[in-house]
Amino acid sequence: MPVQDSKTHVALLVSPGMGHLIPFLELANRLVLHHNLQATLFVVGTDSSTAESNLLQKPSAANIVPLPHSSSTLDPNASYVDIINAMMTASFPFLRSSITTTMPRPAALIVDLFGTQALSIAHELGMLGFVFMTSTAWFLSLSFFYPSMSKSMIDAHVYNHEPLEIPGCTPVRFEDTIEIFQLNREEIYEGFGGFTRELGTADGILCNTWQDLEPITLKALTELGNLNKEKVNQVPIYPIGPLTRYSEPNLKSEVLKWLDRQPDESVIYVSFGSGGTLCAKQITELAWGLELSQQRFVWVIRPPAGTDPMGIFFTVGTGSEDDSAPEYLPEGFIKRTKEVGLVVPMWGPQAEILSHRSVRGFVTHCGWNSSLEGIVNGVAMVTWPLYAEQKMNAVVLTEELGVAVRVRAEGVVGREEIERKVRMIMEDEEGREIRERVKMLKITGEKAVSKGGSSYDSLARVASKCDIFRRRRDGGC
Ligand code: UDP
Repeated sequence: MPVQDSKTHVALLVSPGMGHLIPFLELANRLVLHHNLQATLFVVGTDSSTAESNLLQKPSAANIVPLPHSSSTLDPNASYVDIINAMMTASFPFLRSSITTTMPRPAALIVDLFGTQALSIAHELGMLGFVFMTSTAWFLSLSFFYPSMSKSMIDAHVYNHEPLEIPGCTPVRFEDTIEIFQLNREEIYEGFGGFTRELGTADGILCNTWQDLEPITLKALTELGNLNKEKVNQVPIYPIGPLTRYSEPNLKSEVLKWLDRQPDESVIYVSFGSGGTLCAKQITELAWGLELSQQRFVWVIRPPAGTDPMGIFFTVGTGSEDDSAPEYLPEGFIKRTKEVGLVVPMWGPQAEILSHRSVRGFVTHCGWNSSLEGIVNGVAMVTWPLYAEQKMNAVVLTEELGVAVRVRAEGVVGREEIERKVRMIMEDEEGREIRERVKMLKITGEKAVSKGGSSYDSLARVASKCDIFRRRRDGGC
């Protein structure tokens, strides 16, 4: 779409991974379609992800600009945080030169947590710098608070497994803490420190949550003096969610055709996000658990990937000849379940599946986009967190919101546990309240993002701040 002179122009920078790309595309679209801005989305992509390239080819209200990032020089054995960090850093010179030549000159740059080091580029180039946290306010509060935590406090959490007390927020139990604290590798904390330190330099932080979802945490984040005293509470927080991808009404796909043939609210959908993988033993237990539950199911399945729970993060959606022959499933599974189940290799149209009338439940790895997609479609969940901040998300869904039940994912989860939790969500009386609660929460989410709702207004305030800034900076044009 051509950039027009009269509107305020905003640039966005997104790091690799569908879990960031999807909400950033939505944000860019809404800034254009609801708030009358122009938007350019700079994408640091994973060249080998077909899901990502398919998504980027769809029509968008924003300009999409891929940024080079020299991925060939990266150590393939590095942690995913280090790889993303290296890719982002390598893209910064291209970002700077692209912004300098982009017309009209953008008024603001919006980055994600992995892009916070580009906030200084925004400020140097005479722009506002915002962060969009594609997760909960609770994770945002942990990230905010992190730079001001003492070493002894972190050590007590990491080594003595004491809960992490974040002022005004629910403490984070060690068993639910973020992956980097559980991995217990000093160099990764430093990486996390590098991203989070810059949060205090932002002109505002947008978060994919809403007032009714996390009222207590949002209060802690916005009330003066509760968190990182020097910086944090001076940064305005904008809850703008739930921001999720709309389903495409006319999308044609085998899985949707299959769902059309199923009764209302009879199917459980099983998926571990864009990069999640299970080991061979776990796949066997899950297959048995689904079969024993006697529920209809759709399962997005990937080949086993040893012990790495995010085995295909950088190659997501990449198909192969093997995709159609999941020989790693228990013998006879496909045949025995063919009347009630459908196995979808590698990647499925999740937004469309979850909004289908036949889907009642969702076994999810608790990536925040998946969690929100469950809520906005009123689908009760079984939480099975794998990596990153997903255990914290599981706590929000189960203990705070009561819209899910949790499987304990330490080691291999047995078939009986899976069968029990699936039945609970799909048919038990115990699950009825959960199913009702998620439907109520769906309504609060719809209200928040509708015109005049708290999140809609919050995003309008961001747009207006960019507008006012641009007029002042460019001399009232
Ligand atoms: N997704 C999808 N099809 C799949 C798997 C994932 O469309 O087979 C989408 C999903 O709808 C969500 C995103 O990919 O929007 C994954 O983001 P999330 O935050 O849930 O998890 P992540 O992949 O970042 O761990």
